[in-house]
Amino acid sequence: MTTCIICHLGIIEGVDSSQDCPNGHLAHIDCLKEWLLHSSNCPLCREPYPDQVLNQFKEFINQKETEKQAAIENELKQEEMKKMEQVASKITFLKFLESIEILINEQEFEYALSRLDLHNNGSNSIQWEHDILFLKGKINYIRGRYDLAINQLFKLVKEKYDYPEGFLYLGKAYEALGLDDKAQWAYERVK
Ligand SMILES: [Zn+2]
Ligand SMILES: [Zn+2]
Repeated sequence: MTTCIICHLGIIEGVDSSQDCPNGHLAHIDCLKEWLLHSSNCPLCREPYPDQVLNQFKEFINQKETEKQAAIENELKQEEMKKMEQVASKITFLKFLESIEILINEQEFEYALSRLDLHNNGSNSIQWEHDILFLKGKINYIRGRYDLAINQLFKLVKEKYDYPEGFLYLGKAYEALGLDDKAQWAYERVK
């Protein structure tokens, strides 16, 4: 029995539709359809299929090509949307930080802290968490809660060593409590 050069299963004459290459290598029509999406040469002998054979499958190939293109475009669009969402949420966060700075200037410390607490629950970025922790420490320093400020700022710089402002306010809080050695230690790490 003749076998298909692509799937290696039998080709039953009069039942299975098949197509051969110029060298007589037979393949099921459905197998060949899929093969032609990748190559227009016979998978066995590499001989090109004549145009009249390829033309039979043109519509199928074009349709698959269109589907593939649409899938790629869709993926790009998804990526683009994800990027835009990220930018939008970053802008929202920066505006949020600005609003906290305004509250600090207006000495609305309790309100600023409660807003920071609320935001922290929904924060999905470690950098944002650090910024929030810093602001909490800074607010507690400004309102004279040096113990709380030290707790928060120490936690911050332990997690993120490269946070000069964190060390600066940590130093100030130590200094306010008369812990000059510790203040010195923190100030040396500001740069
Ligand atoms: Zn086959
Ligand atoms: Zn062939």
